[in-house]
Amino acid sequence: MKTKVKKIVVVGGGVGGWLSASWLKTKHPELDITLIESDKVGTIGIGESVLPRLGTMLSDIGLEEREWMSYTHSIYKLGNKFIGWNIPGKRDHVTNHWWPSKFDESYYGFSYALPEEHLASSYYNQLKTTDLFYNSKGKEGVNDKWNDYWLQLARDGRKNLWEIAQDTQEATYLMDYCKSPYDMNDNLMLGSWESLTYHIDANRFPKLIKDRVAIPKGVKHIHGHISEIKKDADGYISSVVTDAGEEYSGDLFLDCTGFHRVLTKEMDVEWKPYNEITTDNLIFAPIKYNDPVKEMRPYTMSNAMDEGWLFIISLYNRMGSGYIFDASEISPEDAMKKYKKYWEGHEFIREPRHIKWDAGKYDTQWNNNVVSIGMTGGMIEPMEANVLALAQAGMKMVERIISRADENDEVIGKASIKAYNSNLNWLFDNITKFVDYHYTLSDRTDTPFWAKKHQRGIDENHKEEIWKQYRNPRCTPESGVPDYMWAQVAVSMDKFDDDVELHVRPDLLEKANESFEWLRKSSKRNGIYAPNAYEWNKKMLFGDRTHSEVLEESLKPQDEDS
Ligand SMILES: Cc1cc2nc3c(=O)[nH]c(=O)nc-3n(C[C@H](O)[C@H](O)[C@H](O)COP(=O)(O)OP(=O)(O)OC[C@H]3O[C@@H](n4cnc5c(N)ncnc54)[C@H](O)[C@@H]3O)c2cc1C
Repeated sequence: MKTKVKKIVVVGGGVGGWLSASWLKTKHPELDITLIESDKVGTIGIGESVLPRLGTMLSDIGLEEREWMSYTHSIYKLGNKFIGWNIPGKRDHVTNHWWPSKFDESYYGFSYALPEEHLASSYYNQLKTTDLFYNSKGKEGVNDKWNDYWLQLARDGRKNLWEIAQDTQEATYLMDYCKSPYDMNDNLMLGSWESLTYHIDANRFPKLIKDRVAIPKGVKHIHGHISEIKKDADGYISSVVTDAGEEYSGDLFLDCTGFHRVLTKEMDVEWKPYNEITTDNLIFAPIKYNDPVKEMRPYTMSNAMDEGWLFIISLYNRMGSGYIFDASEISPEDAMKKYKKYWEGHEFIREPRHIKWDAGKYDTQWNNNVVSIGMTGGMIEPMEANVLALAQAGMKMVERIISRADENDEVIGKASIKAYNSNLNWLFDNITKFVDYHYTLSDRTDTPFWAKKHQRGIDENHKEEIWKQYRNPRCTPESGVPDYMWAQVAVSMDKFDDDVELHVRPDLLEKANESFEWLRKSSKRNGIYAPNAYEWNKKMLFGDRTHSEVLEESLKPQDEDS
């Protein structure tokens, strides 16, 4: 940075832009922040499944959860369900339709409530952190993980590998029975720290943050299409110019233009493709419920397909669904046919659309005085809801760096920028690895797509790599992919064997077993007695309005922009 950061220009009015502007303005009201968005280019309008830390961020900027949930037609998301990712299923000899094995259903929930100090807090207080758990921040003396105890019990034949989620994640039964995490008296039935997240209507999300946070807090909003960028002799952006000739200067520029990368592509940056990610095409549409009591699932469905996977994200008023596929294995036209066939018997609210992106990232995310936020800096693929999480990581780090700059500092130091780039690079690469292993650890070889992924997993020894990640102290909840998620995927893909090193204290094994049993029983009981997700949402969030009434209302044009 060449000057102290006083004036920030955010380009782009999607979730990335409005959330960045709101976050920075909340933390630093003294900053002069202007957001410029084009009326010629819309927002992407997809991205409806998010990670738990989004809720914390929205609450930190002053949004009240229930209020924003009803505005954005949100429901609680308790995790992901992966169907058909590993075991060969059966094919219908007439239609060639593939039916996954009934044993190949895995729930990946959030065990953020479990590890370390949260396990020792009231809900799970039979175990003490200091007894059992390694500390990812480097506390001495213990090198144990909660998951190691479960894995040891599985190795001893006392746990069923298919049921890791049932024993270690308290929301599994709620997901399985399509239930709400709150009862009708609004008591949370989870032990809770960040066990919950959301499905959010992507089209209403930017407007919510703009109207309820950014504008009231003083972010200036400009409608303008940036068509010229002015730089100084050192390659720093001095101002951006709209096609109406209006010029805006700033000390720091956040590029939140998504795939348009309006500022970033003018910088001296190199694109690094993620060639291993071949699933970079999507066909998607909003879909009407046939029966929300059964279909309003409090989790993101991730169904394996012959050339990729298909997501289903339930909102209150509708579902969002997309087929993510490898275009070297199926053409977009055939993928469209397959997608429509999948949804036969349901009504599309809008005709399905096709988009494609390049999987990869820029080698540096902060260049001179330009920071590329979220999809602007790179895109992997949407599995496990990673995309907005990367944008959040970026905006939070920018804020921390601004905070750390001393009152009298005239510049943001090169070391901070270097640290930013190194962190973001690691996050992108780490999540890419995680996404990739979902394919390459599979034992499916029944289509050319799965056969090629399976072979690469063997060639590159991903089985060993995934367990290294489980032991990697950087894989904390902040990384988006905490240790237990690597273990969960490895176990679900049947890649746990005697070679995997575990650290347990034999004297604590029985106690751990009791805890797992207790967790399982209590979460099953909750699963049985909890209210149906749709019924709960209808009464508690949507004032008894049905899903179709809310849908009808949401199809009317939104209020004029401020
Ligand atoms: C296939 C896919 C699936 C996804 N799924 C998920 C998911 O499940 N969960 C999740 O968390 N995220 C997901 N995402 C990511 C999510 O959609 C984005 O992170 C989120 O919508 C934020 O987008 P954005 O604000 O960066 O960009 P956009 O929404 O594309 O907004 C870009 C903005 O830039 C402006 N702009 C463009 N050009 C100019 C110009 N010349 N001058 C001025 N303004 C300009 C536009 O007007 C617009 O306001 C997904 C993304 C994709 C592609």
